Amino acid sequence: MNIAIVGAGLVGRVVALNLLREEGHTITFFEQGNQDGTASAGFTAAGMLATFAELETAESVIFEYGKRSVKLWPKLLQETGVYDGYQQEGSIITAHSQDMSELEHFITSLRSKVEEAKEIKWLGQKEISTLEPELNNHHQAFYLKGEGQVDSQRFIAFSTTYFNSLANVFWREHTKVDKIEAGKIHIGKNIECFDWVFDARGLGAKEYFTDLRGVRGELIWIESNDITITRPTRLLHPRYKLYIVPRKNGCEGIELEHCKECKIAQTANSKRYIVGASEIESEDNSPISVRSSLELLSALFTIHPSFGEARVVNIETNCRPAFKDNLPRIENQKGLTRINGLYRHGYLLAPAIVEEALNRGIREFN
Ligand SMILES: Cc1cc2nc3c(=O)[nH]c(=O)nc-3n(C[C@H](O)[C@H](O)[C@H](O)COP(=O)(O)OP(=O)(O)OC[C@H]3O[C@@H](n4cnc5c(N)ncnc54)[C@H](O)[C@@H]3O)c2cc1C
Repeated sequence: MNIAIVGAGLVGRVVALNLLREEGHTITFFEQGNQDGTASAGFTAAGMLATFAELETAESVIFEYGKRSVKLWPKLLQETGVYDGYQQEGSIITAHSQDMSELEHFITSLRSKVEEAKEIKWLGQKEISTLEPELNNHHQAFYLKGEGQVDSQRFIAFSTTYFNSLANVFWREHTKVDKIEAGKIHIGKNIECFDWVFDARGLGAKEYFTDLRGVRGELIWIESNDITITRPTRLLHPRYKLYIVPRKNGCEGIELEHCKECKIAQTANSKRYIVGASEIESEDNSPISVRSSLELLSALFTIHPSFGEARVVNIETNCRPAFKDNLPRIENQKGLTRINGLYRHGYLLAPAIVEEALNRGIREFN
């Protein structure tokens, strides 16, 4: 089939990877930004696969899609050539001693939602020291087995390289699509025809989804020579929620200037952490506010004082595409599939949602 994918963010790329498993399709990406994908929320994201922790505010359907996605990610990453970009060694959630009752309440609410959450393990200082020695200044925490992360920046960068290596994938960069219909895309007054069109515009699909909204998020990239935390770690706090997502050093064995997966070259031997994220009901994409910087960085400093000497190497802001119910939406008709509303769960959901959308979409053709 001659296929158009509008939007080369997270969803668009996962759709393409699935379709490319079958021979004979031609895929054209229409992207209003660059093919490097840095304008997408998919690039900004921390890439946490927080199957359990997201249940606090989400419904159990998110958990079910999340479980499926965790199974599907390794193959997708392997196909794009991403190395060291996936981890599923569990995550840690902690709180300051005065906030421990909040954390216990949080865990109880997760346990009440799905049976599997009963396996969430309480950790005392001894267990914390074994699992994450540098967090041993915390007296209590919980271990969420099976949670993990995708290195989102690497996924976006490596998938671009992979698509560029294929003769049947084409790019139309800096091309804003104004309207999408079954088998047709409108760019200004021009209409282009395809067998199957995918609307993967995220927040850019507001001309069609009038109930779509953006939820602003701000993330800070930190590098440190002094701290080694190996798992995604959350701090539960009454006013703000912080997570720290460790990235593997992408520059190992590669000259810094050739290190294309991390865009902003990582300092050799340092550890990079993605620290986030604010959640603000606004579609503002402007730089981080003083308030968010103060909150995120002071919370980080309380996790471990050595973060005080870490370096801030980049700050990203973007908006998560969400519907009122914060649930994903798939719409299918012959020649058109729309996938949107992945909100703060894009990495957790995309492989499973895309799988379902493609299965439903193929039925429209039969
Ligand atoms: C700060 C932050 C942290 C996050 N952290 C996590 C996390 O830890 N775990 C997790 O699971 N999820 C996380 N997410 C959520 C995740 O990033 C999103 O759910 C996901 O990226 C949505 O995917 P999408 O493809 O719909 O949108 P996007 O990834 O934004 O892609 C949409 C693409 O469409 C393009 N586009 C838009 N309009 C047009 C148009 N008219 N014509 C052509 N192209 C167009 C855009 O330029 C963009 O490239 C986070 C998001 C943010 C903002």
